[in-house]
Amino acid sequence: MQAAAERRVDHPLVDSYGRQIQDLRISITDRCNFRCQYCMPAEGLPWLPSEKVLTDEEIVRLARIFVHHGITEIRLTGGEPTVRPSLPNIIRQLSALREEGLESLSITTNGVLLDKLAGKLADAGLTRINVSLDTLVREKFHRVTRRDCLDRVLKGLATLENYPSIRPIKVNAVAMKNFTEEEILSFAELARSKPYVVRFIEFMPLDADGNWRREQVLTGREIFDVMNRWKPLLPIETRASSTSRRYRFVDGLGEIGFINPVSEPFCSTCNRVRLTADGQIRTCLFSIDEWNLAGPLRAGASDAQISEIMQHSVSHKELKHKINEGPAFQRASRSMSQIGG
Ligand code: SF4
Repeated sequence: MQAAAERRVDHPLVDSYGRQIQDLRISITDRCNFRCQYCMPAEGLPWLPSEKVLTDEEIVRLARIFVHHGITEIRLTGGEPTVRPSLPNIIRQLSALREEGLESLSITTNGVLLDKLAGKLADAGLTRINVSLDTLVREKFHRVTRRDCLDRVLKGLATLENYPSIRPIKVNAVAMKNFTEEEILSFAELARSKPYVVRFIEFMPLDADGNWRREQVLTGREIFDVMNRWKPLLPIETRASSTSRRYRFVDGLGEIGFINPVSEPFCSTCNRVRLTADGQIRTCLFSIDEWNLAGPLRAGASDAQISEIMQHSVSHKELKHKINEGPAFQRASRSMSQIGG
């Protein structure tokens, strides 16, 4: 594997604020087998027609060009990436990009299919994983996801423990007022008793229904204070571009993270762009505009022409989200399930 420092990157992707883009999130499907209340309606959303969804080969070709421009981290998202049958094949092909500079390959999943898939994902070359899990209470899980399968997600997590090549195992909980508070210490215990990094993510206005309200946001600080009173937390040093504030309990057991995009935005060090399942570049989670790659790609564009579009899109990357700017805040042009985490 070529170390980043040794690796010569032709035309790194640097935006107009001097932020170099090294993290690519690729949504490989807009479909999902859950119906989370804060993401989509019970009946689901109008799915992309399959012919509009990038093929495995198209995903890998675009990823390779991105890697040649300095992308070192790729995360596969959805919808729910595990509902795409070719996921192991995509991972296998992407993990070959390590020879060209890719350093980490991960997925974000709801975990319900992990019990069956974990082995295949490990064999294919997956190195890291994020499992979304907002509650450890069966009834609440059923209520928030509209699926009664907490046991299968926990079983999937336990199965992952058998594959040491996939580390860290991150458990991401969307924190919401009047929902998460009563389980803060249960999640702390989970982090202390299992090889999982538990992270709380502040609730963001990306729901398809547009119902997000600021008063629903339970901030990272509020959760931290409860946990720190229970057992002291010590900070862990992180990279500037990291979205998470990481902590370890004073007795060394368990790691906790806080991702606070609403109360403590981290846009100034953002090094991420996203590729949607239908081949559009989104330079910010809250982008209004997108840059079409699928069209030129399918029209026979060369790698150099594709690179130009990538560079052009990044040169227009937004400085930050405007969630905290009152009327200036415009909702993203797509909902979370159509963007990917
Ligand atoms: S809101 Fe946009 S600019 Fe800010 S961290 Fe997220 S993706 Fe980056």
